[in-house]
Amino acid sequence: MPLPPSIPRACPSCGSTDRYLTKVSTGGGYAPNYLPQLSTKWWTTPRFDVVVCAKCGLTQFFAPPENRAKLPTSKGWTHL
Ligand SMILES: [Zn+2]
Repeated sequence: MPLPPSIPRACPSCGSTDRYLTKVSTGGGYAPNYLPQLSTKWWTTPRFDVVVCAKCGLTQFFAPPENRAKLPTSKGWTHL
């Protein structure tokens, strides 16, 4: 699974590039929904790109670009 171009290659904590990527559900149903109202289709649930640094353990969650694109028009989010 290649690292998406919007995710930095190096760990922001230790600088290592020995990092790993997986995808996990953002929830919904009986679980908390961590990206509410950002689905691209009503029957889908966004998935986080999760990156773990093998050297220091820092774990980061990234919302995919297609879901981030809905932020400006979603009623579930407030621009800061
Ligand atoms: Zn690290």
